[in-house]
Amino acid sequence: MAVGESPRWWAVRRAGSSKPATYRCPFCGRLLHAMSEHVLIAPEGDSSRRRHAHAACVARARAVGTLLTLDDWRAAQGLSPRRRLRLPWRRRPATE
Ligand SMILES: [Zn+2]
Repeated sequence: MAVGESPRWWAVRRAGSSKPATYRCPFCGRLLHAMSEHVLIAPEGDSSRRRHAHAACVARARAVGTLLTLDDWRAAQGLSPRRRLRLPWRRRPATE
């Protein structure tokens, strides 16, 4: 995907860490603390370009249709939402 091109969909996952970091939410432009509950969004699953955002801001963007998740996008293409893209962060620890 070319730089500056708007992604068709975003990978979204819940985040929250104990790092003493602050991030700027790309939706509202306000700061958010790493320790607060928030979400990570990555354009088309590109985790190297992930951004930290307020969960409420992402929910609002999804509600108005400006942020599609992979499932949203697949559904819009008439595809089944079941097949999951393998993302690095989806790796689970070998506990089973
Ligand atoms: Zn925000």
